Amino acid sequence: MNNSLQTAGILAIGDELVLGQKLDTNSQWLASRLTELGYEVITHQLVPDDQQTIADAIQTLMANAHLVICTGGLGPTLDDLTRQSLADVLNDKLVTDDQAIAQLKAFFKDIPMPKANLAQALRPAHAVCLTNPVGTAPGLLYKADSTIIACLPGPPSEMMPMFDQLAEHHLAQQHADNAIHQRLIHTVSMGESELATKLGSLMDRGNDPAVGTTASGLIVTCRLRTTGNRAKLDLIENQIRQHLGDVVFGVDDQTLPQTIISLLKEQNQCLAAAESCTGGMLGALLTAASGSSDAYEGGWITYTNEMKQKCLGVPADIFSQQGDGAVSQICARYMALGVLKHAPDVHHALAITGIAGPCGATPDKPAGTVWIAHASRTSEPDVRLFHFKGSRQQIRRYACISALAMLHRALTHAAPRRLVFERTPSED
Ligand code: AMP
Ligand code: MG
Repeated sequence: MNNSLQTAGILAIGDELVLGQKLDTNSQWLASRLTELGYEVITHQLVPDDQQTIADAIQTLMANAHLVICTGGLGPTLDDLTRQSLADVLNDKLVTDDQAIAQLKAFFKDIPMPKANLAQALRPAHAVCLTNPVGTAPGLLYKADSTIIACLPGPPSEMMPMFDQLAEHHLAQQHADNAIHQRLIHTVSMGESELATKLGSLMDRGNDPAVGTTASGLIVTCRLRTTGNRAKLDLIENQIRQHLGDVVFGVDDQTLPQTIISLLKEQNQCLAAAESCTGGMLGALLTAASGSSDAYEGGWITYTNEMKQKCLGVPADIFSQQGDGAVSQICARYMALGVLKHAPDVHHALAITGIAGPCGATPDKPAGTVWIAHASRTSEPDVRLFHFKGSRQQIRRYACISALAMLHRALTHAAPRRLVFERTPSED
């Protein structure tokens, strides 16, 4: 087994990437996967659809990295030149690959195959084709003693499964000892600096596993990273959970809405919502979780005062000159109670009303002022005031995440806690 650190270079090919019309997401994904596999990624490069430029870039990368992964330029059109460029680098002729022809014919068995697609069955004589499980463009693989070059299709949906096959059959085993294992532990309801203070020496530089944090949209994530022995991650995860307790809601790909849906399902309960300034964003987040229909019944987008009255029964006097207005504790409370009344089967209601800004703000209610209510059949409504900072879109998202955080704490019977951006009304 080869235990020395292997280097990898990534080459993204396409005019649209160089011109800034399309973001190169392939390289980011590949870099992360290669790092997990134990490669040291030394460079990302972007080149246009030009045969010589592509060939030069491949040549340079080959001289500097053990593994070169190219994406793009394998389609059937005249601007797809990766095949020819690789042949130039290898000083090879392009030959027709019989198996690739058979696969193309199978792909087009019910519809006529455009002639141009035949070009996709060409490969440099010393390379082999990689099967494309989802599209027409086969990949290319060239293996020499100290170098591997793989050319993968540009569309991420084709590139990713082909890379996974490549990794399984040609890359993974030889680098197992260098593999970098990572784990993400997600939290909500606690600010990043408080969280870092609680983690204390777990975050010391030089620790193995290394522990870092990143904050994004009120979700603070602990990133664990170690080389070699994956079991070390479990140990540190346990310690982190002990230090942070009930603010942890998930690991790795798990999202807060997914956790909420799972908790509701486990407890045989369901939820409905009333949204004003978030305009349905809370519903969109919840329904992005697969299986959400078992626990999220739906909701009302009551943007105007009239809709709040008509759909949820919020009393009209709240909106009069003397009333507290739509962005108020009492309005949020009535909205949540209105949900419980009009959705008789749900156990929980969330309501959000606020000023996303920049217009609509007043001196006593600046943009970012949001009231959020959680009501259930078994307890008094919990209604909280938040002063979020950020753009209109950020404020709306913070409001949704905070509503979910309130419900998460209720469903897990967590200890009372003041949430990030929460204000007591008397501080106003
Ligand atoms: P190609 O294989 O060059 O024909 O690329 C086909 C499609 O994949 C195009 O829509 C590209 O925009 C997309 N694509 C190519 N390279 C990348 C990349 N590095 N990141 C994201 N999308 C890409
Ligand atoms: Mg292209």
